Amino acid sequence: MQEYGHFINGKSVKGKSGRQSDVFLPMDGSVQAKVDLATKAEIDEVVKIAAAAQPAWAAVNPQRRSRVLRKFLTLVEEEMKPLSELLAKEHGKTVSDAAGDIQRGLEVVELSLGVPHLTKGEFTEGAGPGIDTYSIRQPLGVVAGITPFNFPAMIPLWMAGPAIACGNAFILKPSERDPGVPLRLAELFIEAGGPAGIFNVVNGDKDAVNAILDNPDIKAVSFVGSTPIARYIYERAAANGKRVQALGGAKNHMLIMPDADLDQVVDALIGAGYGSAGERCMAISVAVPIGEDTANRLMEKLIPRVKALKVGNSLDPSADYGPVVTREAQQRILNYVDIGVKEGAKLVVDGRNFKLPGYENGFYVGPCLFDNVTNEMQIYKEEIFGPVLGVIRAKNYEEALALPTTHLFGNGVTIFTRDGDAARDFVSRVEVGMVGVNVPIPTPVAYYTFGGWKASIFGDLNQHGPDAFRFFTRTKTVTSRWPSGIRSGAEFSMPTMK
Ligand code: NAD
Repeated sequence: MQEYGHFINGKSVKGKSGRQSDVFLPMDGSVQAKVDLATKAEIDEVVKIAAAAQPAWAAVNPQRRSRVLRKFLTLVEEEMKPLSELLAKEHGKTVSDAAGDIQRGLEVVELSLGVPHLTKGEFTEGAGPGIDTYSIRQPLGVVAGITPFNFPAMIPLWMAGPAIACGNAFILKPSERDPGVPLRLAELFIEAGGPAGIFNVVNGDKDAVNAILDNPDIKAVSFVGSTPIARYIYERAAANGKRVQALGGAKNHMLIMPDADLDQVVDALIGAGYGSAGERCMAISVAVPIGEDTANRLMEKLIPRVKALKVGNSLDPSADYGPVVTREAQQRILNYVDIGVKEGAKLVVDGRNFKLPGYENGFYVGPCLFDNVTNEMQIYKEEIFGPVLGVIRAKNYEEALALPTTHLFGNGVTIFTRDGDAARDFVSRVEVGMVGVNVPIPTPVAYYTFGGWKASIFGDLNQHGPDAFRFFTRTKTVTSRWPSGIRSGAEFSMPTMK
């Protein structure tokens, strides 16, 4: 059986804790690998290694750092096929979806190639008599990333690209569910000519995470995962004086105005609701048709499409989506569907008894669709993170707008309409961080920032875009005078510009 250790100081190493976790093959439910879980001592050791390697990397000029990442990008692209297959096998998503996961991560690495430009400082000549003021952006030192199971390439690359480009040493603690691709990414960084100790991967569970949060030499923690853990990471790391960005869970709505093109809407709902078995933080999990007539017309088109979805094994190119990540996740999702039925929502497509022939032990959940969901229900308030779409029928636009605006989460939202006024009003008033107009999943491109509002984020800088380069550097502002002939004498009052 495959055994995964860690990748530290440019080498694969075995863990020392003796504790391991199972890595499943979700498509048939078997265990395909074991992953070592690091101890506090192992984390403290890797931090020392990273701290020793970082100053030399920071001293490499940014254009040369960028070239190492360019080579890294090329190597990952060359391995796209085997990496996508590995990712699909460990996560459960289809191979084409896995390739998208890697590609979205590479787009942030591509952005990071611009680090010489993105981290340029500012300069003001003559801010006072003989005085020049300038700012420079310097790396933080050792920084850490803690990532979720659902994007095992994209999210590690969102963090590794900017963190390393800025001159930091990076320690990744990926999800213990699917560590294969993150480990291979760190190896490829070395093959690209990256120095040892700059991209380290340490596998582990909450012990490793706590050691990261408490180590005083880790200066910043970037986290993506569920809201309770995001809040915990934010509070503990901040209490230890670290810079933190912690992105959490989601419940993303799609508003459907009476004038929307319902064929487009249904295509969008099918892909955004059920793609990747709904295990995306930007999945649409609530559809809000406005007016009874819109709702009836929508359901007429949507129900047959949901019933026709093809659930298949992760390597089946004709599958729309594959299994979910673990038996535990499968049971949690099925439990939510039972709760929805008990709460009185109308289960118009019931995927609870789905079994894939030949893969009866796989972690599959057939597509589920609820009609007549209300905002009082648990299936509406909580994140299900599975192939379960709920429909709330809203009487009018204001009632529909209030749903995402007052929801606990505020990650993504979208509206389908032909009415520019309505769309503009929606963009302006909705209290959600990432907003779409006639697009299924409003995930921003790499050069804009990614992040929600409310309980979908803790901390104030988002992932990727300009925020990433702010997060992974700190600003130093210099006021400098070369005083040939300037003598103002001792000054005791506060210097001002008056
Ligand atoms: P998770 O919170 O269970 O795990 C995320 C990371 O935290 C993992 O590395 C895990 O090992 C670690 N962890 C788990 N429990 C811990 C504990 N008690 N103490 C310390 N560390 C712990 O999330 P997940 O199930 O891997 O991922 C799915 C979640 O991530 C969903 O809620 C999803 O919405 C969210 N997500 C959010 C975004 C976003 O951008 N907002 C993106 C992707 C995923």
